[in-house]
Amino acid sequence: MIRRFLGKVFSGKLFKSGQPKIIPFKTHRIASDHVSRCALKTCETLQQQGHPAYVVGGAVRDLLLGGIPKDYDVATSATPEQVRAIFRRSRIIGRRFRLVHVMCGAETIEVSTFRGTADADAVEDGDHSTDEHGRILRDNVFGSMEEDARRRDFTVNAMFYDPVRGEVIDYHGGVADIKAKKLRMIGDPAQRYREDPIRMLRAVRFAAARGLEIETRTRKPIKELAGLLLNVPKARLFDEMMKLLLSGHVAEGVRRLRKEGLHHGVLPLLDVIFEQPLGERFVMLALENTDQRINEGKTVSPGFLFASLLWHEVLAAWKAAEARGVHMMPALFQAMDQVLQVQAEKLAIPRRYGADMKDIWALQARFTNRAGRRPWQLLVHPRFRAGFDFLQLRCASREIDPELGAWWEKFQDTDEATRAEMLVKDSPAASKKRRRPRRKKKPAAAATEISDA
Ligand code: ATP
Ligand code: MG
Repeated sequence: MIRRFLGKVFSGKLFKSGQPKIIPFKTHRIASDHVSRCALKTCETLQQQGHPAYVVGGAVRDLLLGGIPKDYDVATSATPEQVRAIFRRSRIIGRRFRLVHVMCGAETIEVSTFRGTADADAVEDGDHSTDEHGRILRDNVFGSMEEDARRRDFTVNAMFYDPVRGEVIDYHGGVADIKAKKLRMIGDPAQRYREDPIRMLRAVRFAAARGLEIETRTRKPIKELAGLLLNVPKARLFDEMMKLLLSGHVAEGVRRLRKEGLHHGVLPLLDVIFEQPLGERFVMLALENTDQRINEGKTVSPGFLFASLLWHEVLAAWKAAEARGVHMMPALFQAMDQVLQVQAEKLAIPRRYGADMKDIWALQARFTNRAGRRPWQLLVHPRFRAGFDFLQLRCASREIDPELGAWWEKFQDTDEATRAEMLVKDSPAASKKRRRPRRKKKPAAAATEISDA
């Protein structure tokens, strides 16, 4: 204890207090009517009760960049209990580090108490808050406003905005970096990546999504430290991957991940896929399509996205199974299971998306059948739309003849008589085979999973 205290005195930690820059409206130009009323009210109320309180993090960054923040975080000196007591519509969440959700109308503001940096001295004293690579495992102490700024990742993410006074409080030069469109790590970049390797992925995501250039010192250690992503818990990697996929800039994000050598950690299969030009074209089209949908305010289904990312793996396994003599449908089902088992685990794709992915893939084989009653049955399949969009991507990437996509596009939109005319005539042998009563199921038939719904 005493040793730790003296250590702090000698290292100057107790006396160091960085002076922030106070940036006035005429410089930052954040229009107050762009700021959420709920965030303003939350800060105002806390300040009236004697607690400094600011909008912080990504919302300040996005306001300065002229965008509309998707959510607001507020940082304050008040403890979670104090915040909870001030706002009637609020609740404390989180166990490790407790936050308060303050609700107004449909909006929720996340209020956190200023947090301190993880203390290296505590590690020496046997309090193991980092692992052997320097990754921070515990990070849950309250701190000062200055410490709160220092523990954040990039300068542009570490600004405080006081919506009552209309000032930005800037400890690390974030406002200047925003102006220069620079993404700069606070502190020593290599050490900060070791503390939390996810920051490497965040760097790429912010650069891609906000059009920032990663400053040289911040960028340099990434290639060398990329392997540290292997130590990050899968669930965190998955969350970060979802943020990238849904950022509206995933196509650019993936290009940059590859450039920085980071995709092994997040999308390990991309290497294999991108070796084949068809696979690369398909995945990039799927990602561009996702970006477009997000930027138009449409929804995207994670199942569809993962089905796209893994499609060329499925195709390869499907062909391999057919080459072993397995029939088309069972071969596809074997391939799907195999890919889901191996790749879904690597990507930590939650099981709940598996069913959607399988539906979309299985429909691809069924689209080839354009005879008899089957095309009608397919039209009412609950995943028809997703399956058809997927088919269109395959056509656009020239994996298959675009004629098939065009046929299905017409078949959906036309009247019953034209549909009947469009049907491909069955060969007599094929139609006879279909009419034959069902035999007992073969034991190896993974095809039993196909639902005709
Ligand atoms: P967005 O929400 O648009 O992805 P954001 O910057 O708000 O961007 P969040 O993950 O919501 O990102 O985090 C809020 C803030 O918390 C960040 O702006 C940053 O200051 C801090 N932060 C988040 N993750 C880290 C991290 N891994 N290391 C250090 N600080 C972080
Ligand atoms: Mg955020």
